[in-house]
Amino acid sequence: MQTRTIDGSAIARELRVGLLKRVATLSASGIRPGLAVIRVGNHPASSVYVRNKIKACGEGGIYSQDLQLPDTTDESTLLGQIRILNNDPRIHGILVQLPLPSAFSAERVFETINPLKDVDGFHPTNVGLLATGHPRFVPCTPLGVMKLLEHERVDPEGRHAVVVGRSNIVGKPMALLLLQKSATVTICNSKTPDLGSMTREAEILVVAAGKPKLVTAAMVRPGAVVIDVGINRLADGKLAGDVDYESVLGTAARVTPVPGGVGPMTIAMLLENTIASAERALAANRAA
Ligand code: NAP
Repeated sequence: MQTRTIDGSAIARELRVGLLKRVATLSASGIRPGLAVIRVGNHPASSVYVRNKIKACGEGGIYSQDLQLPDTTDESTLLGQIRILNNDPRIHGILVQLPLPSAFSAERVFETINPLKDVDGFHPTNVGLLATGHPRFVPCTPLGVMKLLEHERVDPEGRHAVVVGRSNIVGKPMALLLLQKSATVTICNSKTPDLGSMTREAEILVVAAGKPKLVTAAMVRPGAVVIDVGINRLADGKLAGDVDYESVLGTAARVTPVPGGVGPMTIAMLLENTIASAERALAANRAA
């Protein structure tokens, strides 16, 4: 079988052209979407992610603030900073970059973000809205995967989708989005015995385990659409996904590469969520 590589970078670029038009429309109404990214300490991988997000904002006409708090910051200082941003009319999206120091409660942090500015979709209200089928902010990575599938005209309805990973950030919201599109969804975790017997059932396989090259050709159903969310830094410094890309060529019908697959879509969806938030703020102002 000829495997088609899904070019996430190209699809994200295309989507971002559409987003520029929405920013121009907002600008005509006197609104510039704004995103604040807060991080605590200097985690090298986080610094790269944040730099890419801030750069994408600049290219997309979005105002941004990059707030780097020292690693001596305590949780109440972070919560205070979030409350300031909650009340800042220039800011339509607040993102707290993970990981946080281990002493912090991620739950308390997410609950402090105004749910109307929660562009990561981690606030319990937004999690609940997604779970009940009325999504407001959807976490950027699973949203990006759904856009990839849509772009590739892969309709999940009636298909068996298998999601490897059950994190709140990727696996769980991914499964909910596929379920909402009427896929039959199986969610695997680290205690799933014989992972291959599950993944071989998948017509759509989404892997978000954080384990380099976990999924090989022998674990993929011939003709499956394979979406690799994983980003893992190998000992030689190279990036690898959770899927053994080379191995699945010839078995999968389509596969996303790492890098250049899901990653660029995550950033595009962050811009999308920030713009959507600014659009909602404008509509609310007009209605008031
Ligand atoms: P996470 O919080 O560590 O969760 C990993 C999940 O995978 C857990 O639910 C874990 O199960 C499960 N798992 C681990 N090993 C497994 C195995 N052998 N078989 C089945 N399930 C297994 O990670 P995450 O935040 O979801 O991220 C996952 C990966 O995606 C990472 O590589 C991360 O860097 C990447 N990522 C990429 C993007 C992007 O933009 N492309 C965005 C976010 C994350 P348990 O719950 O049982 O431990």
